[in-house]
Amino acid sequence: MDKRAFLEGFFTASTVAFGGHFMWRRISQQDPLIASTARITADPSVATPTHETIESFQFTPIEIVSVQPATGIPQPAPSLNPGTNIDITRLDDQQVAGYLRKIRNFDAIFASDIYLDARYESLLLKTTQRLARVESYIGHGNFNLMSFDEMLRSGRDFSWIGGFGADELNFLEEVFFANPNRYGFFGKKISTEITDSIPKQDVTKVSNSGHFLLKGESLNLYRQIKNDVGEGLILTSGVRSIVKQMHLFLAKTMDANGNLSRASRSLAPPGHSYHGVGDFDIGKIGYGVRNFTADFFETDEYRKIAALGYVDIRYPTDNLFGVRFEPWHIKIG
Ligand SMILES: [Zn+2]
Repeated sequence: MDKRAFLEGFFTASTVAFGGHFMWRRISQQDPLIASTARITADPSVATPTHETIESFQFTPIEIVSVQPATGIPQPAPSLNPGTNIDITRLDDQQVAGYLRKIRNFDAIFASDIYLDARYESLLLKTTQRLARVESYIGHGNFNLMSFDEMLRSGRDFSWIGGFGADELNFLEEVFFANPNRYGFFGKKISTEITDSIPKQDVTKVSNSGHFLLKGESLNLYRQIKNDVGEGLILTSGVRSIVKQMHLFLAKTMDANGNLSRASRSLAPPGHSYHGVGDFDIGKIGYGVRNFTADFFETDEYRKIAALGYVDIRYPTDNLFGVRFEPWHIKIG
């Protein structure tokens, strides 16, 4: 099969199962992803760098920015439904302060951070690289919409990508079904099945952005904001499939040397992103990755958006999702 035929299939076969769905089984073991042995052995009450006590999960050198006492934020109370927000009223002042310190210093490393189990290190690398080849092949824009079944098919059909092995598929499943409360993310689960897909007839490509928006509320709101803010505004990320979110999350976890807590403070785990149901990110044309940093606050575009009155953001300052402040992430619904 050549690339053109594949792309045609990608756009016309959104309701067709590609050679049968992979048979998914849920892992009964509780969160096998998470390191089973404590990685931090330093006295948590002493704010000293802990890099010597972190085990070997390191793709890049770690710079310890700060250390958080291990008390941190506790698990959500058992009476809360899985995926609901933590009940911050149950936390004492010190716990609240610890929680806020984490999301305000989202890229720092804290002693109570949870790491991916080191036995997944090579799988993380292998799977992330394969996903990168899939994205490179299908293109960045189209990858935003790619379903899990389409991902499997691309691996099977193109030797340059290579089929996803059973170990990689089990790993992806474990990432998807792990309970992210365990590592400090408290947002809702949006998609319950890893094979959930975005119907291609429900989206529109937004010109000059390389991204797509769901028709209806998302597209209308984006157009209204663009109209009110002006030509300097751009869509920096629109609707994202589970596969796209998975790739982003695994890449972020690699950047964080396996630190799942740190990764999830700035990126929702797959299945938990509201980009799957209509949220989108906006920025200033020409600002590149700075649109996802505090630099964005300095732009006229941000000031205009903040003054509009009708725009709601998903992750406000000091939110209860365990996520950094994201003024560029527009909330739908
Ligand atoms: Zn976003």
